[in-house]
Formats: sequence, C-alpha cells, structure tokens
Amino acid sequence: MIEEASMREKAWLDVSITRCPWCGRYFADASWYVVELESDIECGDCHKTFNTKKQLTDRVMLEFRIDEKGKTRETKLTKLTKHI
Ligand SMILES: [Zn+2]
Repeated sequence: MIEEASMREKAWLDVSITRCPWCGRYFADASWYVVELESDIECGDCHKTFNTKKQLTDRVMLEFRIDEKGKTRETKLTKLTKHI
C-alpha cells in the first residue's frame, strides 16, 4: 500500500492494559501513569481500588498518522515486547 504524502507525520502513545483483580474489567491507560507513577485507580464497574502496575496485562504502542494540518487520519497498533 502506497502512503499518501499528506499522512507522513507520526506520533505515538505508549498504552498499558490493566485488569481489575476484583471484577475482571480491562482498562487502557497511558503507560507513564501506570509504569512510572504506579498509580492506584478505582474500578469504574465495582468501585474497588487496585494498583495498575501490579495488574498490568499488556503494553502496546499506538501509532498515529497525522496530516499536514495536525489531524489524525489513522491509527495503528504496534506491539512492544521489551517491557513485558
Ligand atoms: Zn472492578
């Protein structure tokens, strides 16, 4: 597939997937929040608190293709393997 010239700019977001140990609901948060801050969050479903870093199940990189106006045109999932 040939990329259009207007979609050559890229940006990335490092995302961590965590799972509530109480009810099993999954959450996606920015990895700096999970891995660097090791934040506790309250589950939106069961309202119990858990530590995101301890409940980390996956970590991926989202790639954003951005046009010349700074608007996102598409996203792509890029697997990170070095952290987990
Ligand atoms: Zn929960």
